[in-house]
Amino acid sequence: MSVRKNISDLIPEEIEAELALLGEKKFRAAQIFSAIHARGAGSFEDIVLLPKALRQKLSDSFEIKNFKESKITSSEKYNTRKFLFELERDPKIRIETVLISEKGRNTVCVSTQAGCNVGCEFCATGKLGFRMNLSAGEICSQVYEVRRQTGVEITNIVYMGMGEPFLNYANVLKSLLMLTNADGLALPGKRITVSTVGFKGKIKKFADDLTSPGNERIGNVKLALSLHSTDNGLRESIIPTSKLNRLPDLYKELTYYYRRTGNKVTYEYIHFPGINDSENDVKRLTALSSMIPSNINIIPFHPIGFQLSKPLDKLNDSFSDTKKLLSNQKLNDLIASLKNNKVVVNLRTSSGVDINAACGQLALAGENL
Ligand code: SF4
Repeated sequence: MSVRKNISDLIPEEIEAELALLGEKKFRAAQIFSAIHARGAGSFEDIVLLPKALRQKLSDSFEIKNFKESKITSSEKYNTRKFLFELERDPKIRIETVLISEKGRNTVCVSTQAGCNVGCEFCATGKLGFRMNLSAGEICSQVYEVRRQTGVEITNIVYMGMGEPFLNYANVLKSLLMLTNADGLALPGKRITVSTVGFKGKIKKFADDLTSPGNERIGNVKLALSLHSTDNGLRESIIPTSKLNRLPDLYKELTYYYRRTGNKVTYEYIHFPGINDSENDVKRLTALSSMIPSNINIIPFHPIGFQLSKPLDKLNDSFSDTKKLLSNQKLNDLIASLKNNKVVVNLRTSSGVDINAACGQLALAGENL
């Protein structure tokens, strides 16, 4: 039996080409894409706009396959819900997605990989290892499933869940084209942020791809760099890939990204009390923030249920006291010093920390992948 292609992974132009091979009219591609990406059709039978014979023909060659089941955990304290999805193509593989509802926004934090092999010291996903890349359709379907299961209108998407987006680059780029497609969810590009720890050559490629002809609708997709330290030595000890992807090279590419797209850059900065909040850190962050238009998101460090190694081991004792970590005076001092230096700085809330849904905490409730 031949393997049926997952039609959710195809953009309208690719569906058109497949229809041509089947001897069908091209205009059906937009109808099929729209049924899956705007209305969340889960089978060809759901696409009643198509003639019955075409539905049958399509189901002989294609399938619509994304997630099988999900478990939802809701935070009592924050308006945050965490979804555990099981991949239909392999039920042993599960991923997590988070919905954060605050200040009139419904933001979905999507995963791009099942697990991650970057191995950041502060991240629970990194401790689980890598299993597989998600397809473009699986990345998008997290958004559609969250919308279907909660009934909320999604206003923003951040690529900050499990996995490193730039290590699944082609599928991430394709998913951006799908999510912004006028026949699909039609989310404006400026409401989407892709976050990366940074790889040489990839930021530049991202800027080139966002601005290439035909990709205008994703030209204003935002980029966030998971910075966490401006000291390359410290950064290397907490983000292993930064040994080969040094900050001066990343800064050059961020400047290129800004010049090419005109989009501001966000720096994500987890505050590790007593480790990355010295006067020198403030000076370097201040200098960095004047390099190109940018803002710095300070994120309180969240316990991840794993013992940390040097230099973060100093924080191991704090695990029992989440409240203390989140209301740390050093956090307030860091923000005040940066504001004093006219740096655009925001404190990211710890939405979902009580259900292990906050930044760095996604680990399938500590289960193996
Ligand atoms: Fe991977 Fe991102 Fe976690 Fe680092 S922070 S291990 S890149 S998921």
